[in-house]
Amino acid sequence: MHTTALVLFSGGQDSTTCLAHALSQYERVETIAFDYGQRHKVELGARLNVLREFKSQFPQWADKLGQDHLLDLAVLGQVSECSLTRDVAFKMESSGLPNTFVPGRNLLFLTLAAALAYRRGLQVLVTGVCETDFSGYPDCRDDTIKAMQLALSLGMDKRFLIETPLMWIDKADTWRLAHTLGGQALVELIVEHTHTCYLGDRTQRHSWGYGCGQCPACDLRARGYARYASDAATPGAERAPGLPPRSA
Ligand code: ZN
Repeated sequence: MHTTALVLFSGGQDSTTCLAHALSQYERVETIAFDYGQRHKVELGARLNVLREFKSQFPQWADKLGQDHLLDLAVLGQVSECSLTRDVAFKMESSGLPNTFVPGRNLLFLTLAAALAYRRGLQVLVTGVCETDFSGYPDCRDDTIKAMQLALSLGMDKRFLIETPLMWIDKADTWRLAHTLGGQALVELIVEHTHTCYLGDRTQRHSWGYGCGQCPACDLRARGYARYASDAATPGAERAPGLPPRSA
C-alpha cells in the first residue's frame, strides 16, 4: 500500500497537475525541484506561488503537503550548451531534438529524487513526463521510466514506484485532468500561477496563462487549452470527467 509520494515539481502546468494528482491519492506528499542555472528563475518563483495557493485554496490538500526541496544542480550547466541554461535561441537541431535537450537530465533528476525519497521515507516518485506531446526527449519515454524504476529499486535495495499520470494523455486532457482533480479553481490556479514559456515571459496574459505565445512550449499549452475550452463549450460533448462548467 503506497501512502507517501515525492513529486518532481517544476512549477509548470504538467507538474502542478501531477502534484494535485498525488495529493488526491496519498497521505503525505513532498515536492522537489532542481536549480540548474536556468536562464529564467521565473519557474522557480512560480512553484512557490503554486504551493502557496494550494495551501490556501485547497484545505483538503494543505495538511498532506509536506516539505519542499530545492536542490542545486548548477553542475548541469557545465555539461550542456542548451538554450535552457545559456543565452541561446530555441531551435531544432539536426539530430531532430530541440536544443532545449540536456542529455540525461531526467535520469539525473529521477536519481536524485529517489535518493531524497529514500532518506525521507517516501515510496512513490511522481513525474509529469509524457510521450504524447512528444518533444523527442528520450529520457521522458515510458521505457526509460520503467528502466529507471527497476535500476533505482535494485540500486537502492528499496522498491520505488515511478508514477507518470500524464504519460499517455495530451495537453487538452491534462487540462481536463486538472478539472477532475480540483475543479474550476484548480484550472484557474494553473492558468494564473504556473509557468511554461521557454522565454520566461510573464508580461503577456492569455486565456491559457502567461507567456510569449510564440515558443513551442506556449504553442503546445495554448493549443491544448483551446481544445479543452472548445469541447467544454460544445453542447453534447460529454467527454471524460474533467469538463469545465458550460457557462465558463
Ligand atoms: Zn513562450
